[in-house]
Amino acid sequence: MEKGWTGLPYHSVSEHFKRIFNEKVYKIPVSVVDDCPNRMGLKGMKTCSFCDVWGSAANSDSFQMSLEAQIEKYHDNIAKKYNAKKFLVYFQAYTNTFTKIPALRHNFETALKYPYVAGFVLGTRPDCLSESVLQLWQEYCEKSSVFVELGVQSFNNSHLEFMQRGHSAEDSLKAIEKIASRTTVDLGIHLIFGSPNETDAEVIQTAKICNDLPITNVKLHNMHVLKNTELEKWYNEGKYSPIELEDYTRKVQLFLSYLHPRIAIHRLTAYASRWDELIAPKWTADKMGPHQKIIDFLRAEKIYQGCKLTAQNESERALFHQMSLRVERTNSI
Ligand code: SF4
Repeated sequence: MEKGWTGLPYHSVSEHFKRIFNEKVYKIPVSVVDDCPNRMGLKGMKTCSFCDVWGSAANSDSFQMSLEAQIEKYHDNIAKKYNAKKFLVYFQAYTNTFTKIPALRHNFETALKYPYVAGFVLGTRPDCLSESVLQLWQEYCEKSSVFVELGVQSFNNSHLEFMQRGHSAEDSLKAIEKIASRTTVDLGIHLIFGSPNETDAEVIQTAKICNDLPITNVKLHNMHVLKNTELEKWYNEGKYSPIELEDYTRKVQLFLSYLHPRIAIHRLTAYASRWDELIAPKWTADKMGPHQKIIDFLRAEKIYQGCKLTAQNESERALFHQMSLRVERTNSI
């Protein structure tokens, strides 16, 4: 657990990657698809209420560029900025399995032809997992490193309806089991806190559900309002108020307190990189401030990942103890 420790009172995803690759890896975010079942309105689905026209793309100019041009451009930028040597190509925007198998294969081959690319990460939805997609993932697991980030967002069906996800919590649980039983991909999930009427008990229950799933990592987001979304309309009509940082911090600390330390955390909050499109809350435009505030809160309250859990065996006892030491040590960093 201590290998690659970054001084945080939780298990960070960089530690997870460092254990796999023995060095720090950086993600190159690329966009190769520009649609998803929701946006196409398949089976009466609607666009997710929080999703803007970019479908979570990190760089909006990517859609005009070939995959090669994106990889090369962002590799050069990141390598220069951080002296980075090893990379994962991150197929991030929209639904990356919502395309034909030959196109997917072509994208994977393109990514892996670069010597500095150690594998790839795919963002997708629980309901876009055909048998041939799983077979293709497994084929690439045998020759490279494949990470999948599944947009679960919530295990509560009323919150999923509010988000207009078009899938249920049960669909997500089935998808996770299916991926884990048919492939050896490294599986993570995305979660969003801040739906209306979300209770503390639900947040704790979410952590407990994660503990029982075959996942290695979780990415946390606060729900926020972007321009030209359904959420913006509800916000303007006074039907939705975004979660404030204090309340969100409390939810994150609750979630972390009940999350098993074996599960790595990508990040603690969402970050809206296109400031002109962010309606509310404004703190989502600050990349590091809210993240640091949450960490400061955890340190001040001596909260570490899994602090509310009871160890079931010797190895868990050792792991929990190691995690508890992080609070002592981070307080003095
Ligand atoms: S969040 Fe994903 S699935 Fe939902 S509308 Fe946006 S791109 Fe489509």
